[in-house]
Amino acid sequence: MPGNLTLAGLKDKAERGEIDTVIVAMVDMQGRLIGKRFHVQNFLDTAHAETHCCNYLLTVDIDMEPVPGYKAASWSKGYGDFTIVPDMETLRVIPWLPATALVLCDVTDHHHHPQPHSPRQILKRQVDRLAEKGMKPFMASELEFYLFDETYESAAEMGFVNLKTTNGYIEDYGILATTKVEDTMRAMRNGLHGAGIIVENSKGEWGAGQEEMNVRYAEAVAMADDHSVMKNGMKEIAFLQGKAITFMAKYALDRAGNSCHVHQSLWSMDGKPLFLDESAPSGMSALMRSYMAGLLTHAREITLFLAPYINSYKRFQQTGTFAPTKAVWSHDNRTAGFRLVGDGSKAIRVECRIGGADLNPYLAFAAMLAAGQSGIEQKLELEEAFSGDAYGSSGVREVPKTLREAIEAARNSDMLKSAFGEEVLEHYIHAAEWEQYEYDRRITDWELKRGFERS
Ligand code: ADP
Repeated sequence: MPGNLTLAGLKDKAERGEIDTVIVAMVDMQGRLIGKRFHVQNFLDTAHAETHCCNYLLTVDIDMEPVPGYKAASWSKGYGDFTIVPDMETLRVIPWLPATALVLCDVTDHHHHPQPHSPRQILKRQVDRLAEKGMKPFMASELEFYLFDETYESAAEMGFVNLKTTNGYIEDYGILATTKVEDTMRAMRNGLHGAGIIVENSKGEWGAGQEEMNVRYAEAVAMADDHSVMKNGMKEIAFLQGKAITFMAKYALDRAGNSCHVHQSLWSMDGKPLFLDESAPSGMSALMRSYMAGLLTHAREITLFLAPYINSYKRFQQTGTFAPTKAVWSHDNRTAGFRLVGDGSKAIRVECRIGGADLNPYLAFAAMLAAGQSGIEQKLELEEAFSGDAYGSSGVREVPKTLREAIEAARNSDMLKSAFGEEVLEHYIHAAEWEQYEYDRRITDWELKRGFERS
């Protein structure tokens, strides 16, 4: 891809004056890019090997509040540094910023031992477990978002209500409606392509002002890297055009939520699609059936990593909105949490539709791969496919409807304890409990409107 760089390529571009800045970033617990901007000369001289950041970065909430109670870092341990080590495979040009390149990092201690609670490390661990079995996971995450004719500042001044979306009507697959946002969407597609991400397409979605960006599936860590660069990049491109964009799972009661559907398949190390068995019904191999059975069996336990915030669960509250409320599987049926796609072909895969666009891709992919692998290890039998409208069905596995319910399911998961390690799981349970605590003590506009006069 045009945007991918090697260190030698970066050196050439620096000498020609084409790059003067390198963003050196890690991904935090929320999936955001966090790091420093280096002068390219300093990056070439030293920072390509490592740099340092305060270790509180993997113990803060979305507000950068140093959350008490973590074992990994705390006031009593003095909040020291950890090391972040650039992964040169991720070095790329960022075409929408002047003369800028970007590299993603692994988070380690000072001796370059990985920090187990770093999201990238958590995903790598699941990929390594699969590699031991001779398998390689491929994923694709589709990101939905709303685009506003507002800046982030004007949106904040308006208290985030009555915001003007770029379209006033539902624009699902609409060409005319998306022509109206093409300045921004074209800049995004071409910008991401220039940053080494294989863009497939963008399209209008099932909300007024809602868009989707689709990119080519890739090996799991590379896809999570692309996802993080995309999300940050699309916000930057919108900002540069005086627009705001949100990936919140549900920003308004009367608008469809923002999903992040994740397509997944396993391949042999030499590139054979292990989910395909042409002689089996629907072309699903026995391996695929037990992987999917694992996803279903553990769906409630992993929802915390598909829906990490209080707001994430607002997306599941309404039926008939394309956000699934049931963890069942189906043939090409968008009311179910899991959908079989590409039956009988090399592209056979399972799509998980439960996650919101607010998920951290490393954690979500890791949780799904852990669940699927558990299905493979136990040779679980796949239940019958669901057919009909899953929203109205009773007696089938429900997706947790609140963060509190999801925390309980994750906390009691022996599968997650053994796949992630108990300390790592505890770290993320603690983050979720803090999110719940922060919410529980707030007084919302809804309560004031209902109760101020009448209670
Ligand atoms: P849909 O619109 O029905 O969700 P698409 O054909 O647009 O389906 O594909 C969705 C995503 O699935 C794309 O990002 C594509 O790259 C990805 N994909 C295709 N084949 C595979 C596969 N074998 N494994 C994982 N993802 C895949």
